[in-house]
Amino acid sequence: MGEVAHPVGPADASVFPRYAGIATFARLPRIEDVPRADIAVVGIPFDSGVSYRPGARFGPAAVREASRLLRPYNPAQAVLPFALQQVVDAGDIAANPFDLAEAVEQIEHGAEALSTGSTRLIAIGGDHTIALPLLRVVARRHGPVAVVHFDAHLDTWDTYFGAPITHGTPFRRASEEGLIDLEASVHVGIRGPLYSDQDLRDDERLGFAVISSPEIEAEGLARATERMLRRIGSAPIYISVDIDVLDPAHAPGTGTPEAGGMTSRELLSMLRVLRGSQIVGADVVEVAPAYDHAQLTAVAASHVAYEIISAMTTIEARKERNA
Ligand code: MN
Ligand code: MN
Repeated sequence: MGEVAHPVGPADASVFPRYAGIATFARLPRIEDVPRADIAVVGIPFDSGVSYRPGARFGPAAVREASRLLRPYNPAQAVLPFALQQVVDAGDIAANPFDLAEAVEQIEHGAEALSTGSTRLIAIGGDHTIALPLLRVVARRHGPVAVVHFDAHLDTWDTYFGAPITHGTPFRRASEEGLIDLEASVHVGIRGPLYSDQDLRDDERLGFAVISSPEIEAEGLARATERMLRRIGSAPIYISVDIDVLDPAHAPGTGTPEAGGMTSRELLSMLRVLRGSQIVGADVVEVAPAYDHAQLTAVAASHVAYEIISAMTTIEARKERNA
């Protein structure tokens, strides 16, 4: 490894108030203001793939605003995520709202351009369509990855109105394209009505295990977490969090809400244990602030991203910084 510059973190909130200034994620430096990035938070304001309520195109801006209150030390993981690695805000990827195929290409190219060297991305959506181009980029670098997918919905449906690329289909396309590890991928928090039980059989064939929301309640969080970790094993993982995995009480600001979901406490807990796994990329999607109240959903999403960034802090990074 070459010379490691000391990471630039958020401005000191006791000198520059955290509610002042233009919002970047967690008040971190912009990518152009530092020489290198270990983790880049990138907004993808795109929602032309939604099947119900639109509005997730405003997600990145809402999550950045809500992330102003995040502080440098994460006691739950005993880590200083912004001091041990350079985390930056890479701005937004511009995606054509009138041409879904072109938008998906733009997202793929934008993510590819940011994934230089060892930089890992955490994308803030945007609707769930964006997971497909993001998975294409990580799979090119790492091979098929274990997708750890938190969502009320399977998102392995085939088509809507004949369209193969929508926010309800990214993981079926990803499976067909060979982007996911069929032995290690898992959905967590699934619930709500389906079209038929064929949906579940298709999903299993496409390479996913399911830890449903009713199962989490019945077996308890600890056992459900254990099952998730056993499924993942030692594979490189991609974390995809659809904020609708949370109960609408915890995340009302989303496009396809379903009753009976996880609490934000449960979700953060299940993300925390992924520390030590090889996390190669992540997204947090489906925040639609027009349906939000008092920033509930955007605050939850900002903490989800923070917990993932903390979990991405490797032991190697710690050693490197201390050397
Ligand atoms: Mn969903
Ligand atoms: Mn989804």
